[in-house]
Amino acid sequence: MGPEQAVTQEGAESAKDTRSPEPGAGRLDRFRIVLIDTTHPGNIGSAARAMKVMGLSRLHLVNPKTWPSAEATALASGAADLCHAATVHTSLESALAGCRLVYGTSARLRSLSMPQMDVRAAAAHGLAEVAEAEGDVAILFGREAHGLTNAEMQACHYLVHIETNPEFGSLNLAQAVQVVSYELRMAALGGGEAPRAATDWEPVDAEQMERFYAHLEQALLDIRFLNPDHPKRLMMRLRRLFNRARPDQNEMNILRGILVAAQRGWLDDPRSGPDPVENDD
Ligand code: SAH
Repeated sequence: MGPEQAVTQEGAESAKDTRSPEPGAGRLDRFRIVLIDTTHPGNIGSAARAMKVMGLSRLHLVNPKTWPSAEATALASGAADLCHAATVHTSLESALAGCRLVYGTSARLRSLSMPQMDVRAAAAHGLAEVAEAEGDVAILFGREAHGLTNAEMQACHYLVHIETNPEFGSLNLAQAVQVVSYELRMAALGGGEAPRAATDWEPVDAEQMERFYAHLEQALLDIRFLNPDHPKRLMMRLRRLFNRARPDQNEMNILRGILVAAQRGWLDDPRSGPDPVENDD
């Protein structure tokens, strides 16, 4: 029996295990595992298997290097159905459409002072979030060679770290998916997450946030606050601020209204606007 047959057999056996569905596990359907620019298709197959054994099913792939792939199907074993059903995207934005909360996993704690969480805390936090309202939660996984880019991390509300040996802290991609999926399952079955205060308004999703950032950038250019020669750091800081605040629909309407008013005010009488600001970004 070759190695591919061996994994298939093993997967078939575990597929026979039909335990009764556990309360809470249904909430796992709201989590998307998003693999970005994965180089080795075998890692995608192994990630699919890691997900399925923990009761997750929604696999999203952004620009996988080789797809579809027989190697992925072989390593997925009994979870080939997840590979076949995986949604392939050409941009992260598309993979995040309809998501209300985005976590990015990272092997390194970043100097970028983004909000960070340990994987166990993140699982409880994410489960509490889906109990509260509609919308999906995405968990991003980076490239085998160099993880997530800064821009991808800026699309996240939180960075999530799996605690490891400080001198050797980078897990294989599929193993990282395994640990995250396990923690989600444990949190879902435990049901111990703290109830959160209900809000009157739905949170905005990732697409609305991206449209807001584009509008904000344009408005800041229009009113000459943003220096077009050095735009990057200011927008990064503002993204961090608004990702921390997580505006709801009503707050977003107010923010967009302020931007429109500021742009209109400046166009009506540019001299009445603020003096150009020297900011050190
Ligand atoms: N060399 C890369 C690591 C890539 S490992 C780097 O230093 O960033 C591939 C992916 O697995 C990572 O992008 C991350 O999504 C996940 N991963 C690996 N180890 C992890 C850890 N300790 N905590 C959280 N995610 C991890």
